[in-house]
Amino acid sequence: MGYFSNATEGDFWEAENCAHCVHNKPGQDDPMCPVMLAHMTYAYELCNAESHPGKVILDWLIPRNKSGVGNARCAMLVRKNAVSDKHLKDWTRYKAAMAEMEQSQ
Ligand code: SF4
Repeated sequence: MGYFSNATEGDFWEAENCAHCVHNKPGQDDPMCPVMLAHMTYAYELCNAESHPGKVILDWLIPRNKSGVGNARCAMLVRKNAVSDKHLKDWTRYKAAMAEMEQSQ
């Protein structure tokens, strides 16, 4: 499950995930994303559970990193504007190519 040791860790994770996700609604009165709502409601209660169904479901939604430290990407993240991981990799390559070209001039 997504477990955040403090608000700062949560803010960083949200900046990498929720800030780019169609499920994250911008208005203060908009309902919270169900993935985040489930975590806000049950994560602390279930964080030390072993095989509780709720813990298993939260683990599926926001898995831990393979190292066991920190949270991996949200399984329900759907990027806004149909931006895919491939688009982001291509954009990174494009920026690197442009930077290299500028240095060579
Ligand atoms: S689905 Fe995941 S990434 Fe998207 S807003 Fe909800 S918690 Fe954040």
